[in-house]
Amino acid sequence: MSKRIHINDVFRYVSKFDHEIGGHYTRDFFFHSVNSQTNATNGRQFVFLPFETKTKVWHYHPRPYGMWPSFEDLTARTKKDTRSLIFTDVGVWILNIVANIDSQIELLHITRHLWTEFHRHMLHHHHSLSDRDTMTTFKTFARAMREHGYNLKFITKEEFIRSKSPI
Ligand SMILES: [Zn+2]
Repeated sequence: MSKRIHINDVFRYVSKFDHEIGGHYTRDFFFHSVNSQTNATNGRQFVFLPFETKTKVWHYHPRPYGMWPSFEDLTARTKKDTRSLIFTDVGVWILNIVANIDSQIELLHITRHLWTEFHRHMLHHHHSLSDRDTMTTFKTFARAMREHGYNLKFITKEEFIRSKSPI
């Protein structure tokens, strides 16, 4: 079962959910086919994305749980090169996952400290940061990851809407 959402309605649609949702997408449409599960060990939410059959996937991180990628999001393994979008209430993370496992593992080692530092910072401050400061922090982190060879971008909601298709 999957619900089809037009690209123009995607922010309005996802913001109604208080849990993670996701699926795959095409040029004009987003398909909502998965809902979050909770990891029994650490209480964190996650979704099983259709990596096996799709090369364009998306999911949504609701504000209370943190609007930034989890380490698992950044280190997903795929069989084919995959574009992964993470929607938040302030913008979209755009992540290109390379299907080459060796280069992924190397990047994982190089970037782990960057992500850990960023994650700790956000855990402490995300409730008190303004949206504007959140977006600046996200762009700075994405730039630092790119400098280490990681293909990650953050674009604001306005930039996404203006470009119509960052995809
Ligand atoms: Zn995620």
